[in-house]
Amino acid sequence: MGLGCIANLNSVPFEGFMANGFAAGGQRTATQCLRFGTRIITETISRVDLSHCPFRYWREGQEEEDEESDTADTVIVATSASAKESGMSACAVCDGLNRPLAVIGGGGDSATEEATSKLTKYGAHIYVLVHRDKLRALDIMAKPLVDNPKISILWDTRWKNLWTRNVQTGSEKDLDVNRLFHDLSIHEPATAIFRTQIQTDPNGYIINTSVRGVFAAVDVRDKRYSQAITSVGSGCIAVLEAERLIVESQEKEMMGE
Ligand SMILES: Cc1cc2nc3c(=O)[nH]c(=O)nc-3n(C[C@H](O)[C@H](O)[C@H](O)COP(=O)(O)OP(=O)(O)OC[C@H]3O[C@@H](n4cnc5c(N)ncnc54)[C@H](O)[C@@H]3O)c2cc1C
Repeated sequence: MGLGCIANLNSVPFEGFMANGFAAGGQRTATQCLRFGTRIITETISRVDLSHCPFRYWREGQEEEDEESDTADTVIVATSASAKESGMSACAVCDGLNRPLAVIGGGGDSATEEATSKLTKYGAHIYVLVHRDKLRALDIMAKPLVDNPKISILWDTRWKNLWTRNVQTGSEKDLDVNRLFHDLSIHEPATAIFRTQIQTDPNGYIINTSVRGVFAAVDVRDKRYSQAITSVGSGCIAVLEAERLIVESQEKEMMGE
């Protein structure tokens, strides 16, 4: 998602080239940015130095020490997060509409909540595949799942794609579902190149960039909502913060501070 759509800011959005598995353009288009004359660069950033301003960054293929870096006065990290396992969906609202669905490894708190609150709302019927004969989720979270008539829990189950096997009875069956969801809590934020330089939580989500001039927006810091509409708001806040910082710095420079 291009974030630097503010006129008169010399923003340089990089959209990556299959970065983190996404085609150029991310999951949205950047038409609005183009209207403001923004030039979007389809290259991946593979190395950054955020130790001081101007910040330095290197494009893929140029990350050697002696290669000259590009520089920026502010950086907005919006590299997104994706499902850890390819071929699986991790967005209940996006991919769940009116279809029979299966949640793989869905016995924990987050997956249980997601299956009950979102998948049942959108999917036709939900199969939750659980390794053991009980759920990992707390009882208070598990009860709505167990009681929901739209959900069938397949206990003691092993699976490969749509094939399932009950390890107690030995019975096997192919699930008749349109979509497989991995445990919906498992996403991987694309923050590897930033992790030693800005603060992340144990899963790699950026909590607080803690570096003045570096901002994080959208799915790299939001594991709760992850929707297009919330992305726009989060991106907009980051851009306005970056703009404010640049204007403040320019004013200080003019005042000779
Ligand atoms: C399959 C799918 C369907 C979805 N459907 C819906 C929907 O129907 N409704 C809805 O509201 N939401 C939907 N979403 C969620 C929504 O698209 C995201 O919440 C939103 O796009 C996140 O914005 P973002 O900027 O974090 O990521 P993205 O829009 O994915 O943009 C991230 C960009 O960063 C680039 N990038 C990553 N690493 C680097 C790097 N090192 N260097 C340079 N560039 C890099 C990527 O190439 C990409 O262009 C869907 C998501 C997915 C995956």
